[in-house]
Amino acid sequence: MLPSNFSGLASNPTQASCCSTSPTISTNISTTLQRAALSERHLEHVSLPRPGWWCGTAEAMFVRHCLPPSCRHSGSGYRDDQCFPVLVCGVLRWEPRRLSSRATSGRRIMTHLDTLCVELTARCPLQCTHCSVGAGPERREFLALATFADCLAQSPGLAEIFLSGGEPFEHPNFLEFVSLSKRSARSVVVYSSGTRIERGQLAPLPWEQIAAAAGAGVERIDVSLYGSSAIHHDAVTQTHGSFEHTVETLRRLRLAGVPFGIHYVPVADRGAGMLSVTNLARVLGASRFHVLSVAPQGRARRLPNLLPQPSFYDDVRELWSGVSGLRVVLSSRMRREAGITEGTARDSMRAAMLDSAGFLYPDEGRRQAEFRSSRSLASGAPLAELLSELTAN
Ligand code: SF4
Repeated sequence: MLPSNFSGLASNPTQASCCSTSPTISTNISTTLQRAALSERHLEHVSLPRPGWWCGTAEAMFVRHCLPPSCRHSGSGYRDDQCFPVLVCGVLRWEPRRLSSRATSGRRIMTHLDTLCVELTARCPLQCTHCSVGAGPERREFLALATFADCLAQSPGLAEIFLSGGEPFEHPNFLEFVSLSKRSARSVVVYSSGTRIERGQLAPLPWEQIAAAAGAGVERIDVSLYGSSAIHHDAVTQTHGSFEHTVETLRRLRLAGVPFGIHYVPVADRGAGMLSVTNLARVLGASRFHVLSVAPQGRARRLPNLLPQPSFYDDVRELWSGVSGLRVVLSSRMRREAGITEGTARDSMRAAMLDSAGFLYPDEGRRQAEFRSSRSLASGAPLAELLSELTAN
């Protein structure tokens, strides 16, 4: 059966003018399905209003196989319709229109990548209250090395790769990920909690793993630190002893001569203690202090209040003015929130995130289901096709 609203496409005035010299799509659908070697059982009505589902290849297939010839010119009415059928993997679906709304929103369609953030695993010794991945010690998702290699083979000219998680050191093939990244990008940086699970116990990053990572070409390790005391940091990580182990990891990184930075998110006391964390970072020898916003995704959705205290933005502006002696980096969202209009060279870079199941997301900080690619690289979907579904900020 055809979906009950299928004739709605033909009754759209714009559509009607497009098809004015030919029978309407609704009366032609059986013919076009036959031409495409499809039967009506391939036509299913789905309510899937999820951004990112639109696929250029599906459009091309639909135009080639399913539209009457008179509708195949550019500016066809169906482009302006709210919904239209698309052919995906041999199945014709009724889909909400995506591309035109994206185009008119002023966002850029992603065609290539400059920088890639990779979620190696959802496993992490910590369970931060704001974690976008919902990571924790019980999680067992690990990105397949072959999926990552496949992604890199299709992304020539990457400037940066960020190996993230969860805790990337928890991936059994972590060093192979570093080596592969090193061959594909100019810079390889690791985002870490600064902790491991060793024989069932929380521990700092082992000396030998720090040395091996540096030996494999890691340029810098960015460690998450949310407070200048155990009370504040452990409250965010929901893990007793995490502050002590993370600080020990920072001490080891310094002694091993591995450059490291601090990732700070204003969760503890809604950012009131940021400057004391900055001081601690400087004392411990960090080269960089990166302030990120809390996004309403993952576990952060459960937080009662995501907004930092108003005085926090004064501190952000003070840091940005350069008084700390550290290299201060603010996420683009943090700059917007703090009213800082100055841009950075990275703003023009095309960034995406690959999750541990092989799905892509635009940018680094938009790990939300509605932005996710429709298919996973692990399914064999070409990277260019998945990128075309994403929009950069
Ligand atoms: S350290 Fe990072 S990955 Fe681990 S739980 Fe915290 S936010 Fe999530």
